Amino acid sequence: MNVRPIRQFAPAFEVTEGAGVTVHRSIGTPALRNLDPFLMLDHFSSANPGEYIAGFPDHPHRGFITFTYMLDGHMEHRDSMGNRGDLKAGGVQWMKAASGVIHSEMPQQTNGLMRGFQLWINLPAREKMSAPAYQEFSAGAIPEVVLDGARVRVLAGEFNGRHGVIDDPATDVRYLDVTLAADAHFNLPLGDPYTAFVHVFEGSVHLADESLPVQTLAVLGPGDTVAIRAGADGARFILVAGRPLGEPIVQIGPFVMNTRAEIEQAFADYQAGRLVQTRATMTGH
Ligand code: FE
Repeated sequence: MNVRPIRQFAPAFEVTEGAGVTVHRSIGTPALRNLDPFLMLDHFSSANPGEYIAGFPDHPHRGFITFTYMLDGHMEHRDSMGNRGDLKAGGVQWMKAASGVIHSEMPQQTNGLMRGFQLWINLPAREKMSAPAYQEFSAGAIPEVVLDGARVRVLAGEFNGRHGVIDDPATDVRYLDVTLAADAHFNLPLGDPYTAFVHVFEGSVHLADESLPVQTLAVLGPGDTVAIRAGADGARFILVAGRPLGEPIVQIGPFVMNTRAEIEQAFADYQAGRLVQTRATMTGH
């Protein structure tokens, strides 16, 4: 067993997005520009509706996938594919923007609280101009694996023989929400070349003899196993892994392509009203 060490700690920076929403960004910052195949990770956590209620009115995306996981509160979603979703606590949404989607994401409070993650996953060149797609699943549809001292929600990929609800074939993304009791252990065989990171959002953990405090993201180094032990107050974290694409990344605002010319095309298409090329149907429940 070769335990994957911590390669890098990525601090979260406060960023204002949309119509004035405060998010905490740990991938997609000057300290960690991207983490192939991941482009961005935003964590939103607020008990103050004034910080998020203005939401994210209509805006475009091209060339990648947005993966949103709500922990508390809910998010109303509408897009140019004709989908209308209401992502509630514990639910997950996977939106393949690909050739182009315009959508709105409007947070709604539940007892004031709004908490969750949005991850951007890159698409390979061959899929950047493919048709968009959408998957949304409510909390009750997500498999849970209960082990000694651990509860694992399997959002995407496989864990302990259970398959997550989200199917993400291009980069084989695995996305787990892990809750550990005090001092409990969590082990997962996860070899190279998979990029992997852990983001602790409750409690603290020890990972390869280093301690990882709350609201910190750790990028894992090479090895074949992830080994985590919870601190004295237990822990809750996301563990996300994916296969790197190894392609050039040119990212400007809401567009992520392989070349500068393709980005210029995206802006030209958006200005000319040609960004949305395909409508698609919704799957999930
Ligand atoms: Fe968006």
